[in-house]
Amino acid sequence: MKVLAILYEGGKAAQEEPRLLGTVENKLGLKEYLEKAGHELIVSASKEGADSDFQKHLPDAEILITTPFHPGYLTADLFEKAKNLKLCVTAGVGSDHIDLDAAVKHDVQVRPMSIGVLEVSGSNVVSVAEHVIMTILLLVRNFVPAHEMIERGDWQVSDIARAAFDLEGKVVGTIGCGRIGYRVLQRLAPFDCKELLYYDYAPLPAEAASKINARCVQDLKEFVSQCDVVTVNCPLHKDTKGLVDAELLKHFKKGAWLINTARGAICDKDAVAAALKSGQLSGYGGDVWNVQPAPKDHVLRTAKNPLGAGNAMVPHYSGTTLDAQKRYADGVKSIIDNYMSGKQQEAQNIIVGGKIGYATKAYGQRK
Ligand code: NAD
Repeated sequence: MKVLAILYEGGKAAQEEPRLLGTVENKLGLKEYLEKAGHELIVSASKEGADSDFQKHLPDAEILITTPFHPGYLTADLFEKAKNLKLCVTAGVGSDHIDLDAAVKHDVQVRPMSIGVLEVSGSNVVSVAEHVIMTILLLVRNFVPAHEMIERGDWQVSDIARAAFDLEGKVVGTIGCGRIGYRVLQRLAPFDCKELLYYDYAPLPAEAASKINARCVQDLKEFVSQCDVVTVNCPLHKDTKGLVDAELLKHFKKGAWLINTARGAICDKDAVAAALKSGQLSGYGGDVWNVQPAPKDHVLRTAKNPLGAGNAMVPHYSGTTLDAQKRYADGVKSIIDNYMSGKQQEAQNIIVGGKIGYATKAYGQRK
């Protein structure tokens, strides 16, 4: 059996730090395990174009492992070429880089054997929730320009304080209140925010909502108009692509902060940059980009508010802390183990599979 893994290049860091498991160098800790069982493991970061290792090895791979941190895009066209593919495993959470509708089509209609798309649900949700809390604080307290001022050798407190606020008393809302969104709100509870809101077609169980005192707002425009801080925590699918666009941004409170650690393409990058420039947004932060790696001249690398601040963007790493890598590497191994031994997969990890099509309601409401 051939197993193909498209991971990110870890370079010197991965040679020095074996806990960087999700890298080409450290191979999710799978090399010995798979080779001992007589399987072939191909690991590469080369993922774009017909000459990439991804496209070269895809036709005879039985298992494909990809990661949201360096997405190998499995398009509908590539599904046609992946004649031997049975199992797609996402090392992490978020399988939008796989054309899930194409996976469903191949699963149900085309192949005699089913193709499953599985991810390691829950593996990095705490890692992301912590990053969201950090980014909210960085933006609301105007931290980044304050630190840059110190490095420059300057000292002008008023230039920073004029745009620094407390989180206490603010209204914070999450678009998507699943594993990450809920954990973000949970972690905000001790900050004594004025209100915690969420927008999601799947309502929280009453007990979970009352535990953190969260209120659901069902209309998105109304929701954003009530929030000082909006954090995006829903998957990318056809209904969330470009969800935060120029039109929706008009309905935000003037000077709100927007944090996106879900997927870059959920927010229209040019609309966000324009909203920052005009001051409609005071800040934008997160770690996800509409294309990864983000090109050097990507507008969100340098977009700023009228005070030359308000940018807390970083590369995609919130869900790939060393703790998270251990959890998702273990999870990938266990999914492959189940596949090889014919054991039932954990229901929470199945996105598409087993002749049932979509096994989760998180990737859109299909009526
Ligand atoms: P989850 O499945 O537990 O929760 C997703 C929630 O979003 C669900 O409650 C779902 O109903 C809701 N949702 C779906 N479509 C929606 C829509 N149109 N409007 C409002 N809500 C909608 O997933 P999770 O574990 O919380 O992860 C959420 C997303 O975060 C992932 O799909 C992934 O894209 C992203 N993520 C990013 C990183 C990172 O490193 N930056 C790591 C993990 C996950």
